[in-house]
Amino acid sequence: MFNIILLGPQGAGKGTQAEKLAAQLEIPTISVGKLFRMEMDKETGLGQAIAKYVNAGDRVPADMVDQVMSARLAEEDTEKGVILDGYPRTKDQIANLDKVMGDLGRNVTHVVYLRVPDEVSLRRLSGRRVCSNPKCEENYHVDFNPPKKDPNKCDKCGSDLIQRSDDTPDAIRHRLELYHQDTEPIVDYYRAKGLLHEVDGTKAIMDVWADIQGIFS
Ligand code: ADP
Ligand code: ZN
Repeated sequence: MFNIILLGPQGAGKGTQAEKLAAQLEIPTISVGKLFRMEMDKETGLGQAIAKYVNAGDRVPADMVDQVMSARLAEEDTEKGVILDGYPRTKDQIANLDKVMGDLGRNVTHVVYLRVPDEVSLRRLSGRRVCSNPKCEENYHVDFNPPKKDPNKCDKCGSDLIQRSDDTPDAIRHRLELYHQDTEPIVDYYRAKGLLHEVDGTKAIMDVWADIQGIFS
């Protein structure tokens, strides 16, 4: 059973690589950001509370994150393993994850760390486009990974492509600051546990993918 965490700054390519890995290992990807956006679309009270933080590039409070994550990890499709994208981001979230996993009799088996410098993150995120269909959210880049059919439509489902509300330069810079402050220490934590696999995330998408496949072959 693989319970994998993808770590790295915003724009490192976590979502892009998570999708490939999920297909190869036949396990679901759990993207906290995506779970949040689905909740925001449902316009529930929780969704509206979350939207305030997400749109400012701020971190969503721990209790809301735990609520959303615990519910998702309890679903049946996670029994063969999961890929976590964008979680945990703080030491507190590690503790919560360990607790939720422990209750389910599971543990983290691999942590893949995609290393990229801030200027690469900024360049990638400003060109990122995502499918507006919340069930799809396929991810593109205007230069590095454009859609093959119509430049403004999703190859997979035909919906319009949009720029995420938190992919503005100010919000990106703010998220990168938080990343250096709170998420980088997580890298050290998992390195000390011997679970960390470092990957050079600056390479082309297929080269990064080849390196990741090497970890699981
Ligand atoms: P994250 O999930 O880590 O925030 P994404 O997977 O969404 O990162 O990638 C951010 C943007 O960069 C997307 O537009 C994606 O298409 C593009 N991208 C991802 N990996 C690479 C890469 N290795 N080289 C160039 N562009 C990439
Ligand atoms: Zn789509």
